[in-house]
Amino acid sequence: VTARLILPLPLRRQIEAEARAAFPRECCGLIEGVRRSDGLRAVKLHPARNLAGEADRFEVDPEAQFAALRTARESGRDVIGCYHSHPNGVAEPSPRDREGAGEDGFVWLIAALAGKDGAVSFAAFAAPDFGALSLAE
Ligand SMILES: [Zn+2]
Repeated sequence: VTARLILPLPLRRQIEAEARAAFPRECCGLIEGVRRSDGLRAVKLHPARNLAGEADRFEVDPEAQFAALRTARESGRDVIGCYHSHPNGVAEPSPRDREGAGEDGFVWLIAALAGKDGAVSFAAFAAPDFGALSLAE
C-alpha cells in the first residue's frame, strides 16, 4: 500500500483553476503519473468533460479516459488515479465516490472548494478502502 502522493504545485494550481471554473458543478479528470518505491508521483493532468447530469457528482467522459491511458502508456507512465472537485467544501469521498472505487491503489484526489472564490483544500485516498494518502509537493 502506497501512502504518499506527490502533487507538484503547478498541477495543484491547475486543479484549483478547474474547480473554480466548474463551480457550482464538479470538475473532473485523470492523473497521469508513476508508481515508485517512495510513493506515487503525479506528472500530468488530463481534464475531462463531466458527463454527470446532477451537480453533486461526476462521471469522466470514457473517451477522455481512453485518450489519457494511451498518452500515458506512450510516455511509459500510467493513469494512477482521478481527481474531482467538491463544491460543498468537504474534502472527503462521498458515498457515491466510494462505490466507484476502481482497481486497487487507484488514487482519488479531491479538491474541496469553500465557495467559488474560497480556499481549496486537497485530500487524496486510495482504492479500494479509501485509506488516506499524504500529499507532498
Ligand atoms: Zn466526490
